[in-house]
Amino acid sequence: MKKIGFIGTGVMGSSVVKHLLKADYEVVVYNRTKAKTDELVQLGAVWQETPKKVTEASELIFTMVGFPEDVEQTYFGEEGIFAADVTGKIMIDMTTSTPSLAKKIADRAKFSRGFALDAPVSGGDLGAKNGTLTTMVGGDEEIFEEVKDILAVFSSKVNLQGKAGSGQHTKMANQIMIAGTMTGMTELLVYAKAAKLDIEKVLDTVGGGSAANWSLTNYAPRILKEDYTPGFFVKHFVKDLNIALTEAEKMGIELPATKEARDLYNQLMTQGFENDGTQALIKLWWS
Ligand code: NAP
Repeated sequence: MKKIGFIGTGVMGSSVVKHLLKADYEVVVYNRTKAKTDELVQLGAVWQETPKKVTEASELIFTMVGFPEDVEQTYFGEEGIFAADVTGKIMIDMTTSTPSLAKKIADRAKFSRGFALDAPVSGGDLGAKNGTLTTMVGGDEEIFEEVKDILAVFSSKVNLQGKAGSGQHTKMANQIMIAGTMTGMTELLVYAKAAKLDIEKVLDTVGGGSAANWSLTNYAPRILKEDYTPGFFVKHFVKDLNIALTEAEKMGIELPATKEARDLYNQLMTQGFENDGTQALIKLWWS
């Protein structure tokens, strides 16, 4: 059984660690704000003071921090993962980050005789809580085979998408879809309310037809309860859509609907709602 290190125990990471502990793995944890590991330590995880120390104490190291800059710091910082001897160790970044950073980490891991995979997830806070995430992996098949049962501890679907960076590209494709479902769900609510319909009934009806989707099922009810807690942070969604649009530009393709969604979420950020959940998009209409 592999000794697991886990860096970044926020909304998603803390739930993932709980599943690993429940499956009897030894887990060493680190988070920038230490208090966010307290519950995990009570459940049996062991705290270490830096990513470097987590790496030294583990064979397999997960990272699930916020932004690409945080990933950069966690791996390449003075007290980061690569400050430790990573020979024979496997590193898995589950942060939604850039394909180029995933490749840089994989190259550096190889150079240091270790191994790295990018493995961003989909399924939201509930998917993490329920252990039903969809995990999209980029990297070498041999390493994927070695860790896929561990990924299955908290995922209901685990697929290898291709070489390093392919997991992040797949996640971008996923976020492009979510841009459509979130803006669609929000405008559905705006329209239904303006038409003076019974909104609960509309949700029940359209949720049973071809408009059914995850955003509608999971976020529309939160909006009706005026629950804007994250979930999935607005600031992280803007980060994702910016990555998707940058990658699209590099490939010479236009994604006008995704651009519109990014601009709407940017407006929401400007109004001070960056730490709300993405369902807060409705606030641009219902203040
Ligand atoms: P979150 O609650 O902000 O968790 C990120 C955690 O990483 C925070 O606890 C943060 O510490 C920690 N962190 C950041 N930089 C660090 C560093 N340099 N060293 C150590 N810890 C660091 O966000 P989340 O919702 O769990 O999301 C994590 C990632 O998964 C993001 O990339 C997000 O886009 C992606 N994701 C989220 C969802 C979702 O529904 N929430 C779904 C799929 C993917 P602090 O406590 O100090 O801020």
